Amino acid sequence: MYDYDLLVIGSGPGGQKAAIAAAKLGKRVAVAERRDMMGGVCVNTGTIPSKTLREAVLYLTGFSQRDMYGASYRVKSDITIGDLLARTAHVVGREVEVIRHQLLRNHVDILGGTAHFDDPHTVTVHGAARGDHNTVTAENIVIATGTRPNRPSQVEFDDERVLDSDSVLQIKQVPNSMVVVGAGVIGIEYASMFAALGTRVTVVEKRPSMLDFCDPEVVESLKFHLRDQAVTFRFGEEVEKVEITPRGTVTSLVSGKRIAADMVMYSAGRGGVTEELQLEKAGLSTDDRGRIKVDDHYRTEVEHIYAVGDVIGFPALAATSMDQGRLAAYHAFGEPARELQSLQPIGIYTIPEISYCGKTEQELTKEAVPYEVGMSRYRELARGAIIGDSYGMLKLLVSTEDRTLLGVHVFGTNATDLVHIGQAIMGCGGTVNYLVDTVLNYPTLSEAYKVAALDATNKIRAVNMFANGSSDESPTPDDPPAPTSPID
Ligand SMILES: Cc1cc2nc3c(=O)[nH]c(=O)nc-3n(C[C@H](O)[C@H](O)[C@H](O)COP(=O)(O)OP(=O)(O)OC[C@H]3O[C@@H](n4cnc5c(N)ncnc54)[C@H](O)[C@@H]3O)c2cc1C
Repeated sequence: MYDYDLLVIGSGPGGQKAAIAAAKLGKRVAVAERRDMMGGVCVNTGTIPSKTLREAVLYLTGFSQRDMYGASYRVKSDITIGDLLARTAHVVGREVEVIRHQLLRNHVDILGGTAHFDDPHTVTVHGAARGDHNTVTAENIVIATGTRPNRPSQVEFDDERVLDSDSVLQIKQVPNSMVVVGAGVIGIEYASMFAALGTRVTVVEKRPSMLDFCDPEVVESLKFHLRDQAVTFRFGEEVEKVEITPRGTVTSLVSGKRIAADMVMYSAGRGGVTEELQLEKAGLSTDDRGRIKVDDHYRTEVEHIYAVGDVIGFPALAATSMDQGRLAAYHAFGEPARELQSLQPIGIYTIPEISYCGKTEQELTKEAVPYEVGMSRYRELARGAIIGDSYGMLKLLVSTEDRTLLGVHVFGTNATDLVHIGQAIMGCGGTVNYLVDTVLNYPTLSEAYKVAALDATNKIRAVNMFANGSSDESPTPDDPPAPTSPID
């Protein structure tokens, strides 16, 4: 008889949801987590603090109101790091409480400390104090230990002037200048936050471009906005060394350029947190980035051990990790479960934000899928004018063969929320006709869907008219059949 039916290692989104799902099935469950990390990277150093910081930046700088009140508009003129981090600490504290309470009211035991395997069914959890350890056995185990930022060995991180995405949350003052190394999602989100605060940011990226998986028009718009806020991009450039000087830092690039800045933030990828687990004692191993391989049911090579969340790799997002956790628990206990929908949204919380779902124009062109683009610009929407967003846009990609939605790409205010309308229509196999024939609240940003849908269908109609040489719209596969007379 084991101590637990399920032991979860890590309390981030994946671990939490695995534990709760198993508890709801009436199982005896425990979660092992370091005492100061309840809620995982997500709550303590990743998603929640970075998104709260962004909200504080947007509010205190008055950034989103400047279209309306002018470029010098500020809610607070001298924004301190204390102003920013107070909000973050408040939200993180609340989230930790919510998670702890949820686990406890579902009778999930919390084992405080760092866990390692003793054998495939036995785990010891070491607390911070000497002699504080707890050895438990479990029938099933879910590993949800997440990732940590990579630190290139040739760079000296002092966590004051040379930072990563964890230590950036502990800076003592808002820098006047900053180098961000790596233009991935995390790097570019922080670059845009500091730029909005007035920091002169230089982004160094070894690839020739950034966010290649997004719509290029959207990425161009983001780059335009960031350049407008004094962000300099150094694409195709590699960092040779970073020196810490009494005045700040000097970053030397392989090309010979040198960049002086108060701080350097590295965002050079993340590696799985697996080294403390002593996986070999459970019969498991990892790839060279510390990640664990799983099958479609999140099962590792060892039958009763599952792994979920960032530690298994792509897409390494909080929402996906939650569902993986829930499904792993269901699979472990033979509970029937449907697999996740393959259509998943991507949200990038830059300022302004980006979100998309479905295909990009490049993908459709490569796959030779004919499509039409429907475009809506926030500045032409009443809600866009009211909120002072003159740059936002929503782009629909519509199949010209059957009028289904193939992709939706949004840039600007509420992009990460708006995308879900398109996702829902696509997920249900809906066509652009749904948007044309649906009444939406006015004035809203959702109206962008209606405008883009009409734009796309007008273009499709124009092609048909030109092709047929007629002045009428030719019927499309989804048009309702003409009504027939009862006496026909
Ligand atoms: C700066 C940043 C911003 C992000 N923004 C977003 C965003 O906007 N949207 C989004 O969807 N995702 C975002 N992410 C990604 C998101 O945070 C992760 O996808 C998510 O946290 C992964 O969840 P997880 O379940 O893998 O566990 P994690 O949240 O990674 O937590 C893992 C936990 O396991 C614990 N652990 C590790 N080893 C042990 C051990 N041996 N014993 C006990 N406990 C252990 C750790 O202490 C940690 O608390 C962001 C990430 C970062 C870094």
